[in-house]
Amino acid sequence: MSKPIDFIRQIITKDLADGKNNGKVVTRFPPEPNGYLHIGHAKSICLNFGIAREFSGQCNLRFDDTNPAREDEDFVRQIEADVKWLGFQWQGKSHHASDYFEQLYQFAEQLIERKVAYVCSLDAEQIRVLRGTLTEVGSDSPYRQRTTEENLDFFRRMRAGEFCDGEQVLRAKIDMASPNLNMRDPVLYRIRHLRHHLTGTQWCIYPTYDFTHCLSDAIEGVTHSLCTLEFEDHRPLYDWILQQVDVPCHPQQIEFSRLSLDYTLTSKRMLTRLVNEKVVSGWDDPRMPTLSGMRRRGVPAAAIRDFCNRIGVTRKDQQIESSLLDFCIRQQLDHDAPRAMAVLDPLKIIITNYPAGQSELLPAPNHPNRPELGHRQLLFSRELYIERSDFMENPPKKFFRLAPGREVRLRYAYLIRCEEVIRDTSSGEIIALRCHYDPLTRGGSAADGRKVKATLHWVSAAHAVTAQVRLYDRLFTAPTPDSDNFINELNTDSITVINNAQLEASLAQATDDCHYQFERLGYFYPDSNNQQKQQLAFNRTITLRDNRSKKSTYGKSNTGDSQ
Ligand code: ATP
Ligand code: MG
Repeated sequence: MSKPIDFIRQIITKDLADGKNNGKVVTRFPPEPNGYLHIGHAKSICLNFGIAREFSGQCNLRFDDTNPAREDEDFVRQIEADVKWLGFQWQGKSHHASDYFEQLYQFAEQLIERKVAYVCSLDAEQIRVLRGTLTEVGSDSPYRQRTTEENLDFFRRMRAGEFCDGEQVLRAKIDMASPNLNMRDPVLYRIRHLRHHLTGTQWCIYPTYDFTHCLSDAIEGVTHSLCTLEFEDHRPLYDWILQQVDVPCHPQQIEFSRLSLDYTLTSKRMLTRLVNEKVVSGWDDPRMPTLSGMRRRGVPAAAIRDFCNRIGVTRKDQQIESSLLDFCIRQQLDHDAPRAMAVLDPLKIIITNYPAGQSELLPAPNHPNRPELGHRQLLFSRELYIERSDFMENPPKKFFRLAPGREVRLRYAYLIRCEEVIRDTSSGEIIALRCHYDPLTRGGSAADGRKVKATLHWVSAAHAVTAQVRLYDRLFTAPTPDSDNFINELNTDSITVINNAQLEASLAQATDDCHYQFERLGYFYPDSNNQQKQQLAFNRTITLRDNRSKKSTYGKSNTGDSQ
């Protein structure tokens, strides 16, 4: 059953049927290059690029770079890389609002000539006071009646750099009594003696977002300008500006609700604080909801696209449960990820009846349901590691894994029985187990049909490779982190670093385009940053199932109770 199409696709379908825009569909994704893209942006990317693809249209990538104080070329490159990684390609080269600075300036002069814009010499505070409030109308600026000649002269001198920051602004002349505050003579240009990452020192006046956005859309021939609901109150201004000047087309702004996800921040402003205050290691910290952080943690792009598709597009504000994103990630990885064995908290076992110095190869399928992914050979020998939490000396009733005198299965290998516990004489800590294996159970089943209740993962001690493994939990303890107080709502256990994990030998060759399921432990992904330092490191993308309701630790994501 196919999903009903959302309200935006309905509008576009109707526009096409009505022959609007000469049958063209042009959208754009317009990030400000002042931070990395996050999961909220993914919703907008999937929508804009998705629509272009479905309606044989085009989608532009346009950087809204009108605030040189906060923007940077590194952000531009990272945003381009993230959009591509997510699986989308913009039409032609990427655009920048700064490409249009000269055209925008000419449009501003047109507004002055048409007597709908003026240079105001009030300072920011005076402008704020005269604007009025939601319950009180505003008052006219004393500079509102300047002549066209005076305004043009002032505006040209603003451009020429004759004034200091904040001394003059260009404002639209609309209506100081409008119930919509955005229509009370909004500022269109401000003076900023700042170097721009692309235009350098060519400009010392910069257009505001509201002035730039609608005109850039029109210059690019955008047909449907899709943005989030906070811009709804700006739509009258968007339309007003386009009506005042000579533009080739009048794009239609349509708003949809932002993505909010529980336990997650989806605001660049707040993510910037996490980075600047070093709460995380950077924008690509695997705990960050940024696309680069998620990629580094091992989240596949296809899972994010699937998630965006499932949440759909509406005008209702809704908080999406992060378990839906987790579901999409697990479903994708379950299909994609080859299986491997790794022991995070090693406990040595010695197979007393297996000859020292001997080893053998045991075949193991790379995927339980995808024979086309083939097999690998696991090395088995006298000394092995199992997970410390898979053994209990005095097991409670429901614990079916290894215990003194009990037999369990080592996956793809043999049945073993624990014969003796070896302790450190001074600390009393268990340091190894002496076990007996049944050579007639090769592959893991007994010819006499006897059953065991647990199957454990293991690695050969002599052949295993050591790696650092990092386990992650959500970054916040609060389901809706408070915009002012989120620093106090951090989960202090959001990262666990294990330095002595023992991995099956084949993982020494792990490449950073391959995801793995470490059997019973979750999905893992090689950390690219660490590979450069020649140290094998893996990030856990996600556990095998949501075990938050139980008390979760890494050794218990699957009890190993036998199939
Ligand atoms: P911040 O989250 O700090 O407010 P922003 O939303 O202003 O950042 P931009 O770079 O301006 O970030 O956003 C680019 C585009 O992505 C905009 O069209 C914006 O509406 C959209 N977008 C940003 N956050 C979300 C979100 N949470 N859900 C859906 N779309 C989003
Ligand atoms: Mg914004």
